[in-house]
Amino acid sequence: TKWVYNFGGGAAEGAAAMKNLLGGKGANLAEMAGLGLPVPPGFTITTEVCSHFYANGKTYPAELGAQIDAALERLGELAGHSFGESKWPLLVSVRSGARASMPGMMDTVLNLGLNDKTVGALAAIAGNERFAYDSYRRFVEMYATVVLGLEHHAFEDALEHYKEKKGLSLDTDLSADDWRFIVDTFKTIVEKATARPFPQEPREQLWGAIGAVFSSWMNHRAIIYRQLHNIPEDWGTAVNVQAMVFGNMDDNSATGVAFTRNPSTGVRELYGEFLINAQGEDVVAGIRTPQPITEAARRAGGSTRPSMEAALPDVFEEFRHVSALLEKHYRDMQDMEFTVERGKLWMLQTRTGKRTAPAALKIAVDMANEGLITRDEAILRIDPLSLDQLLHPTIDPDVKTTILASGLPASPGAAVGEIVFDAAEAEALAAQGRKIILVRVETSPEDIGGMHAAEGILTTRGGMTSHAAVVARGMGKPCVSGVGAIRVSYEDQSFSVAGRRFAKGDLVTIDGSAGRVIAGAVKMRQPELTGEFAVLMEWADKARRMRVRANAETPADARAARRFGAEGVGLARTEHMFFEDDRIVAVREMILADDVEGRRAALAKLLPIQRGDFQELFEIMAGLPVTIRLLDPPLHEFLPHTESEIAEVAEAMGADPAKLRQRAKELSEFNPMLGFRGVRLAVAFPEIAEMQARAIFEAAIASAAQTGVPATIEIMVPLVFSKAELDFVAARIDATAKALEQETGLSPKYHIGTMIELPRACLRAAEIAETAEFFSFGTNDLTQTALGVSRDDAGSFLGAYTQKGILAADPFVTIDQQGVGELVRIAAERARAQRPAIKLGICGEHGGDPASIAFFESVGLDYVSCSPYRVPIARLAAAQAAL
Ligand code: PEP
Ligand code: MG
Repeated sequence: TKWVYNFGGGAAEGAAAMKNLLGGKGANLAEMAGLGLPVPPGFTITTEVCSHFYANGKTYPAELGAQIDAALERLGELAGHSFGESKWPLLVSVRSGARASMPGMMDTVLNLGLNDKTVGALAAIAGNERFAYDSYRRFVEMYATVVLGLEHHAFEDALEHYKEKKGLSLDTDLSADDWRFIVDTFKTIVEKATARPFPQEPREQLWGAIGAVFSSWMNHRAIIYRQLHNIPEDWGTAVNVQAMVFGNMDDNSATGVAFTRNPSTGVRELYGEFLINAQGEDVVAGIRTPQPITEAARRAGGSTRPSMEAALPDVFEEFRHVSALLEKHYRDMQDMEFTVERGKLWMLQTRTGKRTAPAALKIAVDMANEGLITRDEAILRIDPLSLDQLLHPTIDPDVKTTILASGLPASPGAAVGEIVFDAAEAEALAAQGRKIILVRVETSPEDIGGMHAAEGILTTRGGMTSHAAVVARGMGKPCVSGVGAIRVSYEDQSFSVAGRRFAKGDLVTIDGSAGRVIAGAVKMRQPELTGEFAVLMEWADKARRMRVRANAETPADARAARRFGAEGVGLARTEHMFFEDDRIVAVREMILADDVEGRRAALAKLLPIQRGDFQELFEIMAGLPVTIRLLDPPLHEFLPHTESEIAEVAEAMGADPAKLRQRAKELSEFNPMLGFRGVRLAVAFPEIAEMQARAIFEAAIASAAQTGVPATIEIMVPLVFSKAELDFVAARIDATAKALEQETGLSPKYHIGTMIELPRACLRAAEIAETAEFFSFGTNDLTQTALGVSRDDAGSFLGAYTQKGILAADPFVTIDQQGVGELVRIAAERARAQRPAIKLGICGEHGGDPASIAFFESVGLDYVSCSPYRVPIARLAAAQAAL
């Protein structure tokens, strides 16, 4: 087996494509060397050695020793000197390098090969004794801490003590003799701690360092980092051994880092910093302030110290050339590390650079326009979820914040406001122009008004599909849900967290993108939907097959949906409109009615209100399809529950509180989610469906008269499990249309379809499709009924499932392809076999989730529907799924 891959001298045995074997750093060093770029020669010990190391009690493959010897020999020839040579010793760095970058998580040893003899040779070559002994003491400390397991503070204390005694304050004040003394002190510390002299033999040093780097794969912080970033443990790390080059030899030496484009704005400019006469760690340590690379950046930053362009013009030109070549070669923005040793440029690393969401957009669009990548590649380069950052105000990343508590990132964006614990009060205060964060243990449909009025919503209970989360996403309001650490006291109108108390009116900031609660008001950044964003969305629209609609019922949501590019309404939850203003009174009268007559009388009051709502929706959607769902929630959700609420409502309605109490009691259920809701309401009280159908038709007629554009009506029946249920309701809708035609002579076209949200409906899809002209998969209910997991209660245990790896993802966020997805696939196949032209869509929360969207593309659904603020994400994800 080949365990060691050489690079340098204009050639390499590896290449960029070999990341799994050589790690990211090793593969890119090989690629650069193969391109003939100036890379210090070296070799990479593969990740397979790491796997062998852990599989065999921390031992190495038998052939490794000979392969490393051969590689060292070759390295010596390329560098022109070898290990332990007293005239010009070979010094190397030993660094880790996994497949995925794990910055700072594993260990590195620099200046390896220095000992009491070679330090003198280094001093002679550099013509600088101070530099040589400074390098040696750095090596002793690094080796002692990384390889021998000593603590840094022993060395730091010794250095501090020496400086104090000598009256010196900065490291730069120390002379060659000072450093020589420090080297002896450090070696004594090592000898005392390990009962052995500091190792002088370079090969022993090298094997020690290789073992330490492999061992660091399993250190605590690397393990945690892997868990956080989903990096598998069995990947292992490679080890890179490379000839040292020194950026701290003289004033013609330097070290720096640079990006081929600006990583925060995406602007095409060489962007970076460097330090003259310094080693890489000095840039990171922040002891000296680095200077900008280009003159333009220096001028812009107002620095008086020279840029690299001014200080080292020839090297700068070469570096500019190399970075352009690297970007062109990798066809992406690069993040590079370099060192200049006595006027000669050396490239130490290149990798694809991390960037902000706006920069990613600009870079992708610019590169496609420059012809560097195709438009399809540009589309594929953007993480759809990152668009969230562009659609909502976000917390200014430059400000320092104190996080009070964390919960679920239920609805993205950030918001600042005074905390208020009551929805009605939130509405009242917002009407006075105050900015409110509504804080609730959990929300219910009657809080809608307050949620709408608030800047953001914070709940201490509930998951990603809790009422608060779903409604907030629909409204595009930031929401943090399930913040268990916060204790709300409604009585006291305050909450407590981490030993602090926040009373009504106190300011907090919530970050719904990160799921955080922050004390006080934090500075925000506003979103931009023009420029590169618009261009990329246009490309995505051309590339996708599936349509994208929005879940929207209020005019504000519908307008937002169109602004974000929705191609219709995929779900208007009519009940959301029942809570607005004083319509709730008519709804309650309907519920309290003793008989059909009484119900019809109350419904007659609701009719014009619903008609008005629908007309506005049709007008905003201007002929695009609008799917209106008949009443879905259980009726008791519209009734008051506590005694004080009952008294208040009875008073307002002029009704008998006893009757109200009695009716609420009758309607209460053990499992409302599986109870008297959906199509069951229409079966029991067909007059409700009739009123809604009439309101829809009349609204369509009025809207067409107003705008000249006929509405595209889709009436949707929720929660059916059989054809017979749908037939029953469809007959009532048709009868209503007939009656209207007789009255007015007008007969707007309409389609009747159903939600598919119960497993039985999926299995009986063929029959149901005899009646239904379209299906919309309600994957929220379908997930709860297929898994037997209540979405309102899942928060308390699903976290344990994902943490323990029993579920890969929250099934209410990303569709469970094997189970729920299989049901969707079966239903789609059976429905299409019955009615080939049936229109198939999805309107559960999964409609805005990129991974789920890719699955829906594979099933061949016609459209996805999601909350308005998710529409751009869905457009991009649908394009990626189609490519
Ligand atoms: C669903 O169940 O997926 C759905 C969209 O309906 P709701 O969330 O209103 O129950
Ligand atoms: Mg549903």
